[in-house]
Amino acid sequence: MALLSISSLTVEYQRAGRTIRAVDDVSFEIETGTVVGLVGESGSGKSTLALSLMGLLPRNGAVTGGSILFDGAEMTGLDEPEWRTVRGRRMGMVFQGAMNSMNPVRRVIDQVAEPILTHETDMTKADAADRAGELLSLVGIPADRHPAYPYEYSGGMRQRAGIAMALSGRPAVLIADEPVTALDVIVQARILQLLEDLQEALDLTILFITHDLGVVARLCDRVVVLYAARSVEEGTVEDIYDRPKHPYTRALLESVPNFSRGRGKSHGIPGAPPSLMDPPAGCRFHPRCPRAMDICTSVSPARSRFTATQTAACHLYEEEAGGDG
Ligand code: ATP
Ligand code: SF4
Repeated sequence: MALLSISSLTVEYQRAGRTIRAVDDVSFEIETGTVVGLVGESGSGKSTLALSLMGLLPRNGAVTGGSILFDGAEMTGLDEPEWRTVRGRRMGMVFQGAMNSMNPVRRVIDQVAEPILTHETDMTKADAADRAGELLSLVGIPADRHPAYPYEYSGGMRQRAGIAMALSGRPAVLIADEPVTALDVIVQARILQLLEDLQEALDLTILFITHDLGVVARLCDRVVVLYAARSVEEGTVEDIYDRPKHPYTRALLESVPNFSRGRGKSHGIPGAPPSLMDPPAGCRFHPRCPRAMDICTSVSPARSRFTATQTAACHLYEEEAGGDG
């Protein structure tokens, strides 16, 4: 059974009297113990989706449609005290800014112990410190560095500490929003390895959010591709990397050096993602799509199912594949 089931999720912001639909009718599921990658360019709605899963949308944002079922319970509509019983406990979050959001004047071990004391009220300070030390060791920080201050850590170590904090409530689901984006390539690889090891050791369920298709191949079981607030393709890692259907997924792959065809050359996707204040009619990718047809400029494509594991929303396939409703 799916641990997290997101169906027709819609999230909107209000800004300057206008509505920005940052997540538009997005559906996918995450089975227990699996890793799903949520991939898309900047502004496609990835962080908004992550924040809605954690009940952390800013005041001008709200879930306006659809459902988030976590372990069978509906999350949309929870009030803040109810969210506090879920967030940080059953759902942990690691984000790009985790390494910058640590308190500079508190020792790392105390910062990891703090959420443990908050979540497990019957725990003593000494027990919480022991557990924090275990978590820091688990993420690869040697014991003699546990009492250091954040500024004494490298970026990679601070991100490891951020992961330790996210694990402090023994979460069933870890939502990792661009957790390696600010790191150099070698440190990125180590943090990805750490997440892979932790996933296996703790049987974690992970939603891994990134703009870079190149980093999800090793870690993820399934991939959901977002474009301009909508899910355009979903499949297993093999579906997405070996037989991508949607022209946007193909363009994303072409922009990853290791995956691009043609003597290792890569190129960015021409044009820029649209503003969600005023998105294009029809298929939102049509102004940038090399295969756009007349119909694409006015009619939004339905989702087609190719196999039990792969779907995409593109007019190119509507007759070839079965409709998916
Ligand atoms: P990035 O990787 O750059 O963070 P993203 O894919 O995570 O991009 P979001 O940050 O979720 O995308 O943004 C989706 C859309 O929602 C964008 O158009 C953005 O301008 C808008 N948006 C995000 N936060 C707010 C906010 N607090 N108020 C109004 N609009 C917002
Ligand atoms: Fe391109 Fe049309 Fe498919 Fe959109 S629906 S991705 S514009 S071919």
